[in-house]
Amino acid sequence: MDQEKIGKFISTCRKDKGLTQMQLADKLGITDRAVSKWETGKSLPDASIMIELCEILNINVNELLTGEHIVMENYKDIAETNLLDMTKQIEQKDSTLLKIEKVMMWVVVPVYVALVIIGSYICKSNAALGIALIVIALMSVIPFAIIALKIEHDAGYYECPNCGERYVPTMSAVIWAPHMGTSRKMVCPHCGKKGYHKKVISKNR
Ligand SMILES: [Zn+2]
Repeated sequence: MDQEKIGKFISTCRKDKGLTQMQLADKLGITDRAVSKWETGKSLPDASIMIELCEILNINVNELLTGEHIVMENYKDIAETNLLDMTKQIEQKDSTLLKIEKVMMWVVVPVYVALVIIGSYICKSNAALGIALIVIALMSVIPFAIIALKIEHDAGYYECPNCGERYVPTMSAVIWAPHMGTSRKMVCPHCGKKGYHKKVISKNR
């Protein structure tokens, strides 16, 4: 996808509608800075507001992703290419995020365990220092745990071993579910069975 071309297209469509960046941002409930970033090709609109944006600009999602008005004849081909491109981009980002998470946990957890062990050892001779060390270890591992949980929730899907449904669970299901590696014990929203659901990158097999 050509982000710059898409940006210019958004800008043109917005002006055609007689809207300022601020007015468009207000309609979407976002900042005008975000609109400016799209229009300069620095970022793409989130999938969550793409449809609303297209409605306001009176274009369709494929035109948005192609960065031009599409003639009906080429429509289907372009639509399919765009959909594939977008899915591929999201899948790549998700798998990178999961890798980052893994590396992060491989570094953070041993450091945490080491600090706790050293802390409890020091406790014998200097209780205050030992406890301080354990508290510091605990406090510094919390932000990483939150980031890791967020990545595990946001990236990819979970697959039900029973019916094969691939889905995105709620954040609280991810937080409270017992897990082994990246598999989590959850209830399938499709068949209702409980089991270890494996993390997968794409929606389709
Ligand atoms: Zn199921």
